[in-house]
Amino acid sequence: MPPPAPTAPTDLPALEAICAAHGLTPAEFAALREHAHAAKASAYCPYSGFRVGAALLTASASASASASTGEIVRGANVENASYPVTTCAERVALGTAVVAGHRAFRAVAVATDVSPPASPCGMCRQSIREFCDLTVPIIMFDKDSNFVVMTLDELLPLSFGPESLGVPGPPKAA
Ligand SMILES: [Zn+2]
Repeated sequence: MPPPAPTAPTDLPALEAICAAHGLTPAEFAALREHAHAAKASAYCPYSGFRVGAALLTASASASASASTGEIVRGANVENASYPVTTCAERVALGTAVVAGHRAFRAVAVATDVSPPASPCGMCRQSIREFCDLTVPIIMFDKDSNFVVMTLDELLPLSFGPESLGVPGPPKAA
């Protein structure tokens, strides 16, 4: 399947239609874009030089009183001299959010310095699957903020998740 054609950030009618289709406001979309790009600055990638920034928009189902609704949590890739130990931006963001008490997210954004937009790797798609509904949009930005939006289900069809083990959704914190 060919990748979808990116949408230009200046195509406001298209942007608004995409936001509406995925339950996001243009302001939320803009915040995700800015945070995903800004997160790249914190990447530790001395080996690949391939910076990735991620931003998660938290949902109302936060597990602790300190975790507010609609917060944006950032992550960036953290590489290691032992290459397989490297952690992707998406999983750094998820880990940061989860330990802050968040258990559900309304959108995932990823930004890189390349074009066309890069998509989350297979391991990250599965990590996102643990905490996101299949309809959650994954917004992929290229270096110029051109973007592609696909749902988790589109990126990870026939996926395995908590309900596969008899758990109705992401297990809540104790
Ligand atoms: Zn990954």
